[in-house]
Amino acid sequence: MQYAIKIENLKKYYGETKAVDGISFSVKEGEIFSLLGPNGAGKTTTLEIIEGLRKKDEGEIIYFGKYNSPENFYIKEKIGVQLQNSAFLDNLTVYETLKMFSGLYKNSLDVNELISKIFLDEKKKARVKELSGGQKQRLAIAVALVNDPAIVFLDEPTTGLDPQARRMIWDLILELKGNGKTIILTTHYMEEAEYLSDSIHIIDHGR
Ligand code: ADP
Repeated sequence: MQYAIKIENLKKYYGETKAVDGISFSVKEGEIFSLLGPNGAGKTTTLEIIEGLRKKDEGEIIYFGKYNSPENFYIKEKIGVQLQNSAFLDNLTVYETLKMFSGLYKNSLDVNELISKIFLDEKKKARVKELSGGQKQRLAIAVALVNDPAIVFLDEPTTGLDPQARRMIWDLILELKGNGKTIILTTHYMEEAEYLSDSIHIIDHGR
């Protein structure tokens, strides 16, 4: 069994706050791995360290059994990240936004296909500032997929979506899994975790 990610004794403290307090876990290749826990539990800190967006204090992270730094260029090409809040350029259209992000990678998916995949065909020429919250959320998921990543991080991907849009995102996540992607998910919806996850991991007070 190959692990997409293996983490040993990860720690991140902010002064007195032990945001992440010595956690260890492994994510199997091709699984949907869910991280659950109350607000302030340390989910975002953990994920952002793995994504290379924050620095860890201590611990070891091994990607694909051999790389140990998110700064590694290979890792950057192989992961896709959807954040809870993404800052896009208001005056770019959906198409232009995805085209811009696709230009950052050696490999990228066809932008028109990606727009269809996340059901934004009608909004292809709409500017980011004209999108609803749910549409912006779907654009953020598309940006996470633009480089056809092996590991996809989805931080509360369906928060604020209506039930129909949520279903569409669930189908998309299962399709990604069907295509062999490894998915790391955080969610506050128990039925979502139950429906999608291969394994569920609970974090509280950074442990
Ligand atoms: P979650 O994503 O589970 O809601 P976070 O990882 O955002 O939790 O936060 C974990 C803890 O670390 C919280 O107590 C939070 O206040 C604290 N924290 C997170 N980021 C910072 C930061 N940049 N500076 C200080 N404290 C932080």
